[in-house]
Amino acid sequence: MSNAETEPAEVRCAASVSEEPRVEVLSARDVPLGGPRAMTVRRTLPQRSRSLIGAWCFADHYGPDDVAATGGMDVAPHPHTGLQTVSWLFTGEIEHRDSLGSHAFVRPGELNLMTGGHGISHTEVSTPRTTVLHGVQLWVALPEEHRHAERDFQHYAPEPVRVDGALVRVFLGSLCGDASPVRTFTPLLGAEIVLDPHASLTLAVDPAFEHGVLVDQGSVRLAGTAVDRAELGYAGPGREALELTNTSEEPARLVLLGGPPFEEEIVMWWNFIGRSHEDITQARQDWENASERFGEVHGYPGDRLPAPELPNTRLRPRSLR
Ligand code: MN
Repeated sequence: MSNAETEPAEVRCAASVSEEPRVEVLSARDVPLGGPRAMTVRRTLPQRSRSLIGAWCFADHYGPDDVAATGGMDVAPHPHTGLQTVSWLFTGEIEHRDSLGSHAFVRPGELNLMTGGHGISHTEVSTPRTTVLHGVQLWVALPEEHRHAERDFQHYAPEPVRVDGALVRVFLGSLCGDASPVRTFTPLLGAEIVLDPHASLTLAVDPAFEHGVLVDQGSVRLAGTAVDRAELGYAGPGREALELTNTSEEPARLVLLGGPPFEEEIVMWWNFIGRSHEDITQARQDWENASERFGEVHGYPGDRLPAPELPNTRLRPRSLR
């Protein structure tokens, strides 16, 4: 087919350069977490239209969850490779054990960052004194040169920073004059922000970073675009400031994620990140064979999680969006 006009009108196809690209709004899908009564989480990363924000490659948001009704969190020993896990709570408490020998309690406002590297295994169980569980679980992809890093576990409780209209907790990277001392393998930003009712906040950010805003409660506008509760607003690189507005009468809470676009293709399957189908099948086999690679978690009263069956097709890399 061809344009049949004899004198086709000139059409300007270039986008207006003065306008910043629009914020993308990613909605969550509900995923049962597993465990005795299968608590449900809201997953915004990865999804078809976006795999990564910086090195952030996985975002689960859950609660407020009435533990008496849902059974809370009870995740039996399971492995990770090629990634770091970030646990961040708003309410409740989770007991963490891993094959490095770490035994820690994840509490509101405190970062717990576990490096899977070449291989680790862990358990996550909400404690008996927890009545309401509410928080996020995030993963960070490790760059090639560090994806076989040694197992590690870091804990950090940031001092909240009061700025005009908001309370900010910077758990990774730097923002609002505060900087987290926690080591990461790529530049990252991770912060909890509670916006006062009707407050507007303009954050100076690194223009090399892309950003995501996961709204936990309230009605938020990110650079003029409405992002509702449980949605993830995405703003691409090139911005020197991010404008956040709470359009509601109540405080609004969000988690801000950022980092320079991750340039490597990754293959992500179950709890593993690799670079190829073979990386994943090897990791799965090592877990099924109870290899030293993932070590052993002590103190969990139950069996380890078996790996799911691999699909019949070859696993393919995620797109770099
Ligand atoms: Mn895990």
